[in-house]
Formats: sequence, structure tokens, C-alpha cells
Amino acid sequence: MSKFAAHDFKGQKALIRVDFNVPLNDKYEITDDNRMRAAVPTIKKILDDGGSVILMSHLGRPKDGPTEKYSLKHLIQHLSDLLGGTTVLFANDCIGEQAYLTAGMIRPGEVLLLENLRFYKEEEKGDLAFAEKLSKLGDVWVNDAFGTAHRAHASTAVIAQFFPAEKRMFGLLMEGEVESAEKVLHKAEKPFVAIIGGAKVSDKILIIENLLERATDIIIGGGMAYTFMKARGGKIGNSLCEQDRLETALEILQKAKVKNVSIHLPEDSVIADKFDANANTSACPSDAIPDGWMGLDIGPKAEGIFAEVIKKSKTILWNGPMGVFEMEKFQRGTKAVAIAIAEATQAGSFSLVGGGDSVAAVNQFGFAAKVSYVSTGGGAMLEYFEGKTLPGIAAVQS
Ligand code: AMP
Repeated sequence: MSKFAAHDFKGQKALIRVDFNVPLNDKYEITDDNRMRAAVPTIKKILDDGGSVILMSHLGRPKDGPTEKYSLKHLIQHLSDLLGGTTVLFANDCIGEQAYLTAGMIRPGEVLLLENLRFYKEEEKGDLAFAEKLSKLGDVWVNDAFGTAHRAHASTAVIAQFFPAEKRMFGLLMEGEVESAEKVLHKAEKPFVAIIGGAKVSDKILIIENLLERATDIIIGGGMAYTFMKARGGKIGNSLCEQDRLETALEILQKAKVKNVSIHLPEDSVIADKFDANANTSACPSDAIPDGWMGLDIGPKAEGIFAEVIKKSKTILWNGPMGVFEMEKFQRGTKAVAIAIAEATQAGSFSLVGGGDSVAAVNQFGFAAKVSYVSTGGGAMLEYFEGKTLPGIAAVQS
């Protein structure tokens, strides 16, 4: 049983760092509440035990202290609804008298939401005194904010030192994220395929280098594939290309050979005569794209080859779309990969989807329930797979 599941919160005040950084429209309505939903199981377990919950989060990037636009008060009603009508108290500061008084007053079964942590510059600076002030609000610190686990901020990492080891722990969301990531990075059953896509090679170099040490196959799709094609001497027309990364691309291909990792580039592409949803389209080999045309999706042959590799794999990591999936004409490749992952998962493989745009694609195509795990933390997951130590994880484990 995990530390969190084993802990009895009866009579305790749990100070939970959540990631409630949700998008709001101009009427302050929440347009995507996934991050709030993700924290509900953790909150419920504590309330069910007979504890009380104090929630702290950031929202957006406020530059100059308290701002209406970034106030967490806009989330109160929806949070209460998600918790089945539980009363949610609000303190219009995250430290200071009102926060301490309300935190002192709440009773078992009650929830207090604190105002935006980033109204204080000290939060992002990882200020020790600010972290200590926050720590006074609760008896136990629970970190359930995977989305900010790669930041050494006051509430995500620095605060840990004010709680003894038995009173600092991951919440259920963090536990799930860490467990899934560990399974892929350190306990992967082979064959292990990493599917890397998206726009730029430069954003994904570190993750590819780390995966070269672990994966048996790496599939490279999306805009970044054309830098590799060009580096190998192919003609890529107007496709995305990072001229200053041609050398890096060749080095990656060379390293893969030495390490016996198979790199799969898309044999063919769906090409377009402009970057537009209504562009004229055709298909051709990815290394023979005519001038004036650009590759905006993997082609039908690549779909088939990638699907074969995915279906023979026991561990699958997916980060980044295979094409411009936001436009209907260029979403087939990304969908084909999602279908192959779903089939492999059904046949018993472990699949993890992490990183902003592949998560968006999986949700858009309705495949979220058909993969083993969909990560909530884009940047955090990426850094984890780059092999970095995440401060929010280290703070709990040390
Ligand atoms: P990233 O954030 O690096 O994972 O990149 C995701 C973005 O890459 C998405 O918005 C896709 O539309 C874009 N993308 C994928 N494939 C291509 C391509 N072949 N050409 C241009 N953009 C692409």
C-alpha cells in the first residue's frame, strides 16, 4: 500500500499543493477542468478519513501581485460541485492573518482554498521564509501537482523541509504519474518503443538522447522528421527544417546505430502546397518532396510500418503528434498511431502518453481510456524523460 493510502488523516489538516492552473474564458468560466478533476480522489480520501483539506495552487502568470483575472476565487463553485456539494471556504490570501484564521477554524470534512500562490514573487523564487509561512497552515504536506513538479518553487519543493518524512507525501495523482513514468523509464519490458513527434528537433534532443539508452525502437514523426530527412541528404521542399540541427540529427542516427536502437523515420508523407486546412494535398516519399510543397503528416506507408513496430512492443511511450493534427487533412497519421497504441494496450502492453500535444490528440480522438496512462504534466513529463531529477519529486522522496 502506498504511503498516502496508508496514512490516516483523521483529525489532521492536510496542506495539498494542487495544480489548478486551468484555462478561464473572459467571463472567468473554466473551459477545461481536467486538472481539477485529477485532484479529486486525493481530496476525497482525506475528507473520508475525517481530515480537513487546505488547497494551494497557482493560476496563470500574474506579474504584479493580486489581479482579478488570476484569482482562484473563480474556481470555488466548480470545486464544490466536483466534491459533491462540499462547502469550499476561500481565503483571499495564501499567507497572512485571514489564511491562518480560516485554516485554524476549519473542521474535519471541510475544504479551504487559498488565493493564488504566484501573487507573491517569493513562490517562484523558492523563498525559504515564504515556504515556512505556508507550512504553518497544515499538519501534513501532500504534493499532488505533477504539472509543476519540475519547478523548485516554495510550495512545490522548498516547503518539504518543514515537514518530517512521515508528514510529507505524494497525493494519488502524483503517485500515479511517478509510478507510470518509472515503469517506462526504469522497468520497461522490451521491446520498448518511444514515439516522438511534434514540431522541433531542438525541443526533443535531450529526451531522444536519454531514450537511446533505454528504448529498442524510436519512431520519429511530425515536423521534426524532416530535419533528419534533410540531414540524410533527402529533398524536403518547404517542410519544417532546423538548419542548425542537421549535425545533431546525424549524430543521433549514428549513436542509435552504435547502441543498436532502431530509428524509424516516415518513409512517406502527406504533402501540401501551403500550410492551410484547405491546401491541395498529395503523398510522396519523405525524401523526395517537390519544391513548393511541405510534409504535414506521415504518409500511408509510414502509418503501416509505425503500427507494426508499435504492435510488437511491450512498452510504449508517446510524446508529440505525427502531423498537423489540428487540421483534418493532416490528422490521419496521428490517429493511426493512437489506434495502434490502443490495440497494443488491449493486447497487454503498457502505454504512456505524455506531453501537451499528444495528450490533446488522444483526448480529441477519444482514445484516452484506451491507453494505460495519460500524463497531466507536459513540461514535467518531458523533463522526467530527459533524465532530470524533478524537484517536486525529490522533495518528497529525500
Ligand atoms: P510540439 O509542441 O513540439 O510537440 O509540437 C506540436 C506541434 O507540431 C503541433 O501543433 C503540430 O501541428 C505541429 N506539427 C506536427 N507535424 C508538423 C509538420 N509536419 N509540420 C509543421 N508542424 C507540425
